[in-house]
Amino acid sequence: MSKVSPSATLKLTAKAKEMKSQGSPVISFAAGEPDFDTPQTIKDEAVRSLGAGFTKYTPTSGIPELRQAVCRKFEEDQGLKYAPENVVISCGAKHSLYNLMQVLCNPGDEVIIPAPYWVSYPEMVYLAGGAPVFVETSQSEKFRLTAARLEKAITPKSKALILNSPSNPTGGILEAEDLKRLGEVILKKNLIVISDEIYEYYIYGGLRHVSIATLGEELKARTFIVNGASKSYSMTGLRIGYLAGDAEVVKKIGILQDHSTSNPVSISQKMAVAALGLPKSYRTEVRDKFEKRNRLMVGLLSTIKGFKPFTPGGAFYVFCDISGTGMGSEPLCERLLDEVHVAVIPGRSFGSDRHLRFSFACSEKDIEEGLGRVAEWSKRNIKG
Ligand code: PMP
Ligand code: GLU
Repeated sequence: MSKVSPSATLKLTAKAKEMKSQGSPVISFAAGEPDFDTPQTIKDEAVRSLGAGFTKYTPTSGIPELRQAVCRKFEEDQGLKYAPENVVISCGAKHSLYNLMQVLCNPGDEVIIPAPYWVSYPEMVYLAGGAPVFVETSQSEKFRLTAARLEKAITPKSKALILNSPSNPTGGILEAEDLKRLGEVILKKNLIVISDEIYEYYIYGGLRHVSIATLGEELKARTFIVNGASKSYSMTGLRIGYLAGDAEVVKKIGILQDHSTSNPVSISQKMAVAALGLPKSYRTEVRDKFEKRNRLMVGLLSTIKGFKPFTPGGAFYVFCDISGTGMGSEPLCERLLDEVHVAVIPGRSFGSDRHLRFSFACSEKDIEEGLGRVAEWSKRNIKG
């Protein structure tokens, strides 16, 4: 634990919510969760299964109905064939990732993480006794990991590579061509791939989500896809995530859950079955709303002195270069919160002190009002 830090995303989101509840006029761009309500069909299923007494232990790795629904989802969305024994249901994608690290990592094993990265990846590797190895990506290269940089980071201790497209925090995307080139290195060096695809439905500008597992059987065999209901169906508090991959590893994760959490909440699992059965139009509608906010936020941020936003290809975050302000990300976040009541996450927690992460999981009105405050603040405080 001595190597592990608290989660900056959870801490700041909670702080902004608390300040708001105490009457402070906070506008929060901290949230890592969709602001839309959970669809009614999903809520109805909770009431129905509760009424039917579905309140007891379930199989630890998930109810067969949900494991099958996840297999159908992979086939329909990505043409990927998995059997239920390749799928394990966990208490959120975070739990799926945590379990996977626990099962894969021997002491000292290296896990390659492209930076900037989601806050929890390095800490999960530490918690499994492994060593995170960071590979830089840059805004000028659209935050894409290149095959050459990946190859340079590989050592005899390299075990796995984490891919997260669309990415939190950058909104960067890996397209089929990028993945093909990475795939060659992965196969040559025998790496395991952990592909976190939790933002797969939020992808903009006509781009298409591609999973590395779809690029051939050899790559599929060494990839674990992690996904969940949190972001796709506004179910963050209901804690359903899942993972698909090699059946032996999946079985071991089931054993780990036997002795740690047991099954994910029975009713949440039924709700996830209902979620996966929603028509595709639900996802498209939400995506379109996010795309509009994305354009609004990038447009406004690019007019602010000292701020240079990266236009995200996916997810619901704008990662914004703030090196023009001459300030580090933490002091800048503190000042924005204290002086104009705008909550943002410092890039330092994601491995880049020259950036801030702005979430657009909030209303257009909040985006206009909040960024208006930041623009005023910047005019007053940033010279040059
Ligand atoms: N991966 C990424 C990149 C995320 O941003 C999140 C958000 N918390 C998760 C995984 C985990 O989501 P959850 O545990 O809510 O399924
Ligand atoms: N993933 C979200 C975020 O990055 C939610 C908080 C968390 O679990 O880290 O803000």
